[in-house]
Amino acid sequence: MTLEKLPFTRPTLDEATIASVAATLRSGWLASGPRVQELEAALSQYLGGRPVRTMTSATAALEIALYVAKVGPGDEVITTPISWCATANVILRLGAKPVFVDVDLDSRNLLLEQVEAKISARTRAILPVHFSGLPIAMDQLYALAQKHGVRVIEDAAHAIGSAWHDKRIGSFGDLVCFSFHPNKNMTTGEGGAIVATAPDEIRTIEAYRFNGVVKPAPGELDVLFPGIKANMSDIQASIGLGQLARLDEFNARRRELAARYYQLWQHSCPLRLPARGDTGHSWHMFAPLLPRETAGMTRLEFIRQMDARGISVGIHYPAIHLLTAYRQLGWRDGQFPNAERIGRETLTLPLFPAMRDEDVDRVVNATNEILGR
Ligand SMILES: *Cc1c(COP(=O)(O)O)cnc(C)c1O
Repeated sequence: MTLEKLPFTRPTLDEATIASVAATLRSGWLASGPRVQELEAALSQYLGGRPVRTMTSATAALEIALYVAKVGPGDEVITTPISWCATANVILRLGAKPVFVDVDLDSRNLLLEQVEAKISARTRAILPVHFSGLPIAMDQLYALAQKHGVRVIEDAAHAIGSAWHDKRIGSFGDLVCFSFHPNKNMTTGEGGAIVATAPDEIRTIEAYRFNGVVKPAPGELDVLFPGIKANMSDIQASIGLGQLARLDEFNARRRELAARYYQLWQHSCPLRLPARGDTGHSWHMFAPLLPRETAGMTRLEFIRQMDARGISVGIHYPAIHLLTAYRQLGWRDGQFPNAERIGRETLTLPLFPAMRDEDVDRVVNATNEILGR
């Protein structure tokens, strides 16, 4: 029997959502319009009423958030070396300097106890990632930011629907950025959003995502600064509305599937499993480490053998400071040992809402078989 191919992630799009996209296409209004306003209102409601503005990606959202926090040349932003490259790229793009701090080996979140020592007179912001949807210690993070008078920009690309002590990520805090890329917990095809509070910052976000354009009075148009073009389309927003309506259901299923991995591996596991968190964990992905010393094979060989069994395995992520653009700026091996080990050993196993329990069993059995358990 040949088994169907199991991807490591796949979006769940229902017929109602597909029909709503068709309705938008027939409406004649495709750019930012009523559907975008509806999605922003629905996201705001989901996040306890804070204002939310959408854009075409979390990369754009992070760039805009840095601009709002007045990050520019000469400034430093403290961030993590274990994330999608966009997290640090946007800091460089604004002419500022990323200051990396190592992460915890199991939660993959910034080691906040090491952040304080890196805060300098030039530090403008701390930019943590809620890795795989596991919130960072928010009380500690915000106490630190407040003590030193720096902004917080949360890269919550993995964390839509995550909660810290029953409060949703994005429903409190400073500037919070979400991604709606198809791999994330909800999608708009491509897309992102920022949560902010101050009305003047909301106006800056609106201008930045639309070429810096403002409309001071009816019939008048002005440009305050050269913004980017990153406003979301009504087509994307239509997808997002259908996704947001089912987000809690999707995340509940993700938690069940993650729990099944832990259960099946509770007695013996050839992998180093990630930190488990609590019910506030939205399980954007399930990413254990393949310990190099005990695996008996390279990560590439393991991925090949899983692929031969029809199971796709991802890598999220290589350590950012060792990528060429960063090495060229002086970063090198040995600076962030946990991040470097994660970068070498991490594996993303299949986890998405439409997966069946048997699919988890299949991944666990294949892993155990390949690694000789
Ligand atoms: C996906 C992702 C981003 C970028 O999101 P896009 O919407 O693809 O721009 C940023 N940070 C993290 C941690 C991500 O996973």
